Amino acid sequence: MFAPRSAYLHIPFCHRRCFYCDFAVVPLGDRASAAAGAPGSATIAAYLELLQREIAASGGGPPLSTVYLGGGTPSLLSEDQVANLLGQLHRRHGLAPGCEVTLELDPASFDETRLRGYLSAGVNRVSLGGQSFDDSVLAGLGRRHRRHDLMQAISWLRAAMEQRELRSWSLDLIQAVPAVAGASAPPDLAAWQVQLQQAIATGAPHLSVYELTLEPGTVFGRRAQRGQLQLPDDDLAADQLELTSACLGAAGYGRYEVSNYALPGHASRHNRVYWSGADWWAFGLGATSCLGGQRLARPRTREAYAAWVQQLEARPHATSTPSRLPLDERLLVGLRRREGVLLGSLLAQAGLGQGASLLDALGRQLQHERDAGLLLLEGNRWRLSDPAGLGLSNAVLRSLLRALGPVGSEPTAAGPQGPVP
Ligand code: SF4
Repeated sequence: MFAPRSAYLHIPFCHRRCFYCDFAVVPLGDRASAAAGAPGSATIAAYLELLQREIAASGGGPPLSTVYLGGGTPSLLSEDQVANLLGQLHRRHGLAPGCEVTLELDPASFDETRLRGYLSAGVNRVSLGGQSFDDSVLAGLGRRHRRHDLMQAISWLRAAMEQRELRSWSLDLIQAVPAVAGASAPPDLAAWQVQLQQAIATGAPHLSVYELTLEPGTVFGRRAQRGQLQLPDDDLAADQLELTSACLGAAGYGRYEVSNYALPGHASRHNRVYWSGADWWAFGLGATSCLGGQRLARPRTREAYAAWVQQLEARPHATSTPSRLPLDERLLVGLRRREGVLLGSLLAQAGLGQGASLLDALGRQLQHERDAGLLLLEGNRWRLSDPAGLGLSNAVLRSLLRALGPVGSEPTAAGPQGPVP
């Protein structure tokens, strides 16, 4: 029997698809809502039924200590729908006392009454998809909300914190964004500093700052292919990363993972599960679970997911072949954590503990990166330095994998389903 203490639930619905997004998302239109008779309501209800069936068919285990409802736009669900999902989890797995229950909310997709309803349903942590305080940037990213919506949502979250109805909340920001309409260049470093200052001024106890990545098949991916997307050059992107770390550090935020910063006591317990090597349940279209150290990705379309759930109900252990997390991802995940990674154990798990020449080559490369100030060795744990190593994490990883030779070149699997911008 598996014993994860965490569960991720994927709610795939959004009003529209943002220009950079390649998540497993079902756009329902700007007027969509879960209210009876509203556009999209029947689609949402049918999906939630499937999700409940998947939860019911999952194996039991110890009570959950973290639950994360991500998407998509989970704030398209009603308060009752969120309460029902949490009730289903409680019945199937149990929720431990003090369980961290996070709900992703998008500005302009909920109001204060709905927020109160979510909190009454058991949500105690919110992740707010703000992305930017600048209307032209939001429009350029294809976001539906604007600064006014974001500030309103923040005021409700702050009020809920003051009244101790909400335990913590996080704000997402995107850095390294392209030039907006009518501009001749991407926003510069000074503009990014203004964004960071505004984020700090909100008092958000947790900030997730993601660097924009280009994904094939997205609006941005197609524009880039046609040469119509003006992105920051590598120097500006690196300067932004460094500025983020410096500004947030000076404001009291600890960087506990490459993109995540928290005031003391506000690191996301759920996020840390993904990076700790522990198992987690996942439910829903496109979601990836990790059970017994093995990844299992669900199908990304509603039809295929419905068939998958049916198969799960018929034969709970035969839905598909799980895949083991590749060495490169385990290495990267470990090095990015503030507590670092025990390389000896990791290599032994990968069956690489015996090759003396291999370990010598890796040892030389580790020392090289350490001399360059990119890696730190604390006790017997290695981690990337902040900000230099974290800013160049992919390059450091490539150099270590090169040192491992062919055994280090396993393909990378899809990453853990984490907070979604
Ligand atoms: S970025 Fe978020 S809000 Fe935008 S389409 Fe993707 S999941 Fe939906």
